[in-house]
Amino acid sequence: MSVGLGIPVVKPASGAGAALADSSARGLAEAPPKPRGAVMLPSDRPDEAGLIDRFGRSGTDLRISLTDRCNLRCTYCMPAEGLPFLAPPSLMSIDEITRFARIAVTEFGVRQVRFTGGEPLLRKDLVEIIRAVAALEPRPEISMTTNAIGLSSRAEALAEAGLDRINVSLDSIEPETFAKITRRPFLSRVLAGIDAVGAAGLVSTKINAVLMPGINDDQAVELLEWALAGGHQLRFIEQMPLDADHVWNRDSMITADGIRERLSVRYLLSPDEAPRDGAPAELFQVRERSAGADGPMLGLVGIIASVSEPFCSDCRRTRLTAEGAVRSCLFSHTETDLLGPLRDGADDRELADLWRGAMWAKPSGHNMNSAGFEQPDRPMSAIGG
Ligand code: SF4
Repeated sequence: MSVGLGIPVVKPASGAGAALADSSARGLAEAPPKPRGAVMLPSDRPDEAGLIDRFGRSGTDLRISLTDRCNLRCTYCMPAEGLPFLAPPSLMSIDEITRFARIAVTEFGVRQVRFTGGEPLLRKDLVEIIRAVAALEPRPEISMTTNAIGLSSRAEALAEAGLDRINVSLDSIEPETFAKITRRPFLSRVLAGIDAVGAAGLVSTKINAVLMPGINDDQAVELLEWALAGGHQLRFIEQMPLDADHVWNRDSMITADGIRERLSVRYLLSPDEAPRDGAPAELFQVRERSAGADGPMLGLVGIIASVSEPFCSDCRRTRLTAEGAVRSCLFSHTETDLLGPLRDGADDRELADLWRGAMWAKPSGHNMNSAGFEQPDRPMSAIGG
């Protein structure tokens, strides 16, 4: 995927020959060569172990993209014909993933590891990856964001390996609408995957849904009714400018206000008291409008309002792309390569400091609401959320 993406990558070029060959083939910007092992952290950065940044935040929530491939072609994410995907040797191997996760939990105090994609279920070694990360001390909470296709046959093995939680991306329970959005007739396989989660003894499933005007925004109440009945926590996510086609348009997205308005036709929403703790979703208690504010609480619904009500000031996320680059923010325009140095013999201290340097430079936020906003080149399918 990085071929032709033209994302500037900060690369310590020790073992310069190999690094140079690699980076020039991938057409990426180069840092001047330095002797191996000497990662200079920015002089203004305090000497702290964690993934701190200049805005007082610390990265304790690690998202690891396992692949950029996906078996769906969602209209707000990928073109119908797909994208030029990464060649397998460019992907992090199970040992490399485990090493990065180990550095994260032992050096940075990372407590949550989430596997994403593309579609992580497309990794044949997914169970082994989860088992290896679950064996780390201290053990992080392990979760996964998936489209659940194929989950029905793997949920038990994933749970047994150490997976704790699952988020499933699902924008409609109407077969026609599902096929229109994903360009695939796979709704029944997704629903079978969701059913298998409970049977596998995993904690209840969170469902992530994107509403689009004229496509599925009239199904918001139906989706919530279905999720409440199934004991799933539904979260509506504002559509973000991370589509590969770069056709996202602020005026055509449904904002948090629009989501609340659509749900309020049937439901009463009241802010949940539980602390948000840096989580992307703002949670609301759900009651039947007809029962009034004292009516029974039916469950919780979440709204992830990245665009209209950003939550960057308490962001705790740090990300690794499938090819082993640190993205300090979902909307970063630069990345820091860790996989090249690792394969070039870097030790843990060097890798950890490269990661620390990358997070120190994390932007204050996505800048989407300012005139100068530029959509990043890397699409969501190659970041993984
Ligand atoms: S946009 Fe960037 S800073 Fe803001 S919440 Fe997302 S990852 Fe964090």
